[in-house]
Amino acid sequence: MRRKLIAGNWKMNGLLAEGTALAEALVNLQASNSVNCDLLIAPPATLISPLATLLSGSGIALGGQDCHCEPKGAHTGDISAAMLADLGCRFVIVGHSERRNDHAESNTVIRQKARAAQAAGMTPVICVGESLEEREAGQAEACVADQIRGSLPDDGEAVLAYEPVWAIGTGRSATPEDVARMHEAIRKVTGEVRGADYAARCRILYGGSVKPANAGELLQLLDVDGALVGGASLVAEDFWAIAQAC
Ligand code: 13P
Repeated sequence: MRRKLIAGNWKMNGLLAEGTALAEALVNLQASNSVNCDLLIAPPATLISPLATLLSGSGIALGGQDCHCEPKGAHTGDISAAMLADLGCRFVIVGHSERRNDHAESNTVIRQKARAAQAAGMTPVICVGESLEEREAGQAEACVADQIRGSLPDDGEAVLAYEPVWAIGTGRSATPEDVARMHEAIRKVTGEVRGADYAARCRILYGGSVKPANAGELLQLLDVDGALVGGASLVAEDFWAIAQAC
């Protein structure tokens, strides 16, 4: 049985005061309401250290939003997987469409980053998802299958996150039918790449305009094992309401 994972990707949001206030609000909600899922927040790198202290013992896991594929060296501005793990991160998001687009990251690089995360003892959350043009051309499943074949490491644990690019930050979530069909296709491809046992236990999250109003119908779908939440993860009550929908 796959336990659901609700992950908040804060992206490039939050100075020290607001980031710590948001994390404190989540810790308070966690202390007074139980939820039936694992919880993860991925703040900007600048907030990882203060949040590690704040979240310690809370049961809310901490993750990075990206890592370099090399363990160390001359890579100005980058952060290694070991650096994230050193601060207490257990997960790292790799291959988010904003990184694929803003930093021209290829599937090959994303697979190297995922392997670097695993080597540092963390679980990569590997993002895949088609653009609007690819969906309109009837290429959504083929595009996502290519991304999985190209970016999922051959062994070790990973979480997959299906985030259709056109649904990110637009308020326009994919329909439950689209999500159900794509998640089933993702599990099938994962089985072809890694075998049936791994595919059966691999968590596949949905991301793209997840909010309290649509979380219930998305999270009850058979192959949806959680959510990767952007905008709504910046409001403690909304993130909590999504977790409570599990
Ligand atoms: P939104 O929830 O803001 O659409 O963002 C989704 C996302 O990109 C999470 O990684």
